[in-house]
Amino acid sequence: MANSENHPDFDAVVIGAGFAGLGMLRKLREEHGMSVQVYETGDGVGGTWYWNRYPGARCDSESYMYCFSFSKEMLQDWNWSGKYPEQPEILSYLNHVADRFDLRRNIQFNTRVTSARFLEDASLWEVETDQGDRVTSQFLITGIGCISSGNVPDIKGLDSFQGEQYHTGSWPHEEVDFAGKRVAVIGTGSSGIQSIPVIAMQAEHLTVFQRTPQYTIPARHGTIDRKFLEETVKPNYDDLMERARWSTAGFPMDRDERSALEISAAERLEIYEASWAEGGTRFLSTSFKDVSTDRRANDTMAEFIRKKIREMVQDPETAEKLMPTDHPFGSKRPLIDTDYFETYNRENVELVDIRHSPIQEITPRGIRTDDHEFEFDMIVFATGFDAMTGTFFKMDIRGRDGLLLKEKWSEGPKTYLGLQTAGFPNMFMITGPGSPSVLSNMPVSIEQHIDWIADLLQHMREYDIKSVEAEADAEKAWVVHVNEVAEPTMFMQANSWYLGANIPGKPRVFMPYAGGVGTYRKKCNEVADNGYEGFILGTGRRGAETVKS
Ligand code: NAP
Repeated sequence: MANSENHPDFDAVVIGAGFAGLGMLRKLREEHGMSVQVYETGDGVGGTWYWNRYPGARCDSESYMYCFSFSKEMLQDWNWSGKYPEQPEILSYLNHVADRFDLRRNIQFNTRVTSARFLEDASLWEVETDQGDRVTSQFLITGIGCISSGNVPDIKGLDSFQGEQYHTGSWPHEEVDFAGKRVAVIGTGSSGIQSIPVIAMQAEHLTVFQRTPQYTIPARHGTIDRKFLEETVKPNYDDLMERARWSTAGFPMDRDERSALEISAAERLEIYEASWAEGGTRFLSTSFKDVSTDRRANDTMAEFIRKKIREMVQDPETAEKLMPTDHPFGSKRPLIDTDYFETYNRENVELVDIRHSPIQEITPRGIRTDDHEFEFDMIVFATGFDAMTGTFFKMDIRGRDGLLLKEKWSEGPKTYLGLQTAGFPNMFMITGPGSPSVLSNMPVSIEQHIDWIADLLQHMREYDIKSVEAEADAEKAWVVHVNEVAEPTMFMQANSWYLGANIPGKPRVFMPYAGGVGTYRKKCNEVADNGYEGFILGTGRRGAETVKS
């Protein structure tokens, strides 16, 4: 409980101890001398990388850019081993951050925040947990991740299955043994395409249930090039990070500013072949400027990938089933893989197209589709997440007048800059809906939010401002802008989790900001420079006039 109305237990409560929570805690405690309490459901730090331990899990950002930039020393002395960071290595990195900056003493593990209520009279947040904590803080900051509420579809008979079943997003800490087992994987998103090749190598038989075929790019993963790291990356980290901050997707790479249609087919092919050979992030980030907005330009890239699939998959019938034709390239989250398509050349792997023969039920022994009954020892759900809003809705978050966040967002998330939502004073979201978050290299976006929030809190201290809240009109305008930016893009042409389309009944609203990391940063900076335009800075009392600063 609060010591008194004006003396909360903490300056800030932060929810989650992943990249966002760890970074926010360090920033507020070390640079601003604030008292911070972090609550974390897991028994360790890591967030996404604590939970997603499925075989093959790794990040699609190249490792040297998938890290914090606040410590120049840490950038120099941390050595990644893989070109792309694998889950255990990212988890070690985040544990290292927690140890190096002595963060654990302000984190309470094994603790889920169940509710957060804004106490209007005191202008404080009261936060409750499943461990019986009830504390107050001036600020509430969520670092709960965008993709953290696992979605197991409500398939008839789900609980009747007598074998083992797992969701990729809450994978056991103990090793899962696939040897000698008949395994089903449902889902072919990022988690599916990463785990399928690894499971196939170990299982007796693997059956993949695919609803939507995917475009995926070979990662060309391997050990990191030490020379590149020592000679090109480390001496130039300041520049690389700065370029990433002002880029489209949070990587220090420039896309090709030409149209895919303004060059000859032969030249285009040569470019696609070269970036396919480099693979991964490079293929995605250096594509032509109009691939994301012009369907004809997009078709050139999509057709290039389809041709590659035909070359990689030996059985023409399987290749045809794997062919993405119903949505443009990049309209769903772009994927990068290791041997995904080649896996279907294995004797022990079978592909079931559940668009043509849908899953009817899960039985005690396996899965029954329209035209077949399968028996399995294990089912792996790689079926994704209730992204961007799901984790918010698991908590009872109430703002002014007891307004429930879930109710406020019943038609889709409404935020100003993805940082705040009107009616919820002093509550901030790190990479909330309406920010570039999931369309970017996450640590870059997370650090931008951390810095921006910390600067605002500092400003509030300097001017004795007690509360900050998004203006309803500013929020309305931002929501309109987020939609306008997404409208002409390919994102609107697929059933993706960006649009909430993977969750039955979820409003179809494009949730992240598609205008790019650099453009977004500029907008946030302008808002701050203009005296936090669009935010109400006040005394914390209802009806009190805005504090001028
Ligand atoms: P996802 O991209 O949402 O993929 C879920 C898969 O399950 C899709 O193939 C989906 O089919 C299928 N599915 C969902 N509900 C189904 C149902 N009722 N019946 C049959 N199939 C169903 O989830 P994810 O693969 O876990 O990835 C989520 C996000 O997490 C990624 O987009 C990415 O942002 C992040 N992630 C990143 C990495 C990485 O950096 N490498 C790795 C893992 C995850 P439809 O396509 O038809 O909906």
